[in-house]
Amino acid sequence: MSIPQKIKEIVNSIPQNVKLVAVSKTKPNEDIMEAYEGGYRIFGENKPQELTRKYNELPKDIEWHMIGHLQSNKVKYIAPFVSLIHAVDSIKLLKEINKQAQKNNRIIDCLFQFHIADEQTKFGFSLPEAEEVINSETFKGFENIRITGVMGMATFTDNEDQIKKEFQNLKFIFDQLKTKHFQDINEFKEISMGMSGDYRLAIEEGSTMVRVGSTIFGARNYTV
Ligand SMILES: *Cc1c(COP(=O)(O)O)cnc(C)c1O
Repeated sequence: MSIPQKIKEIVNSIPQNVKLVAVSKTKPNEDIMEAYEGGYRIFGENKPQELTRKYNELPKDIEWHMIGHLQSNKVKYIAPFVSLIHAVDSIKLLKEINKQAQKNNRIIDCLFQFHIADEQTKFGFSLPEAEEVINSETFKGFENIRITGVMGMATFTDNEDQIKKEFQNLKFIFDQLKTKHFQDINEFKEISMGMSGDYRLAIEEGSTMVRVGSTIFGARNYTV
């Protein structure tokens, strides 16, 4: 199946309110252009440098999502054009995003990343940590950031029960934040969870945004 056919197949199999982010990291521009010519416009990358290069080289009506861990000193490269930053996990990063958004005269949409996996290596807030940030005066002063929801990554495992529980936990966190802090903010509505191996399960548990790479573009080759 071609790349556009795979995208079409996924889009047709998921609910209309769930957004598919086609994760093109490590893949060449030609692959992205194939998807683009098939009509697709929403792509995700996890490295600021690669994202910026692709932004510069590819059509300007692409909606670019930064899905990976982001260091504060890299925000300036993507701030002019990024449409959603998925993995915001510190006040320091928020501060820098706000500053760079201001410089570019934009409001940048962000998701709070939560640590839901049973692994040390995955980044993210705990619920109390996020609430501490939300309640801080510093956060309340950020005029160029809009928090539109939450993001998380499940443990890399075959154990579906475990993955399901982790997704349920993220949904719980979203609901808590929504009721306690974002009740009146209509834009706070996204739950970014689910990748190639688990996006169907994620949707069953309330995902509104899935980040799918290898199912669309094929396995990644990191040695290239
Ligand atoms: C690479 C990546 C994905 C996509 O992974 P696949 O298993 O190839 O679908 C999703 N989310 C994040 C944060 C990623 O880094």
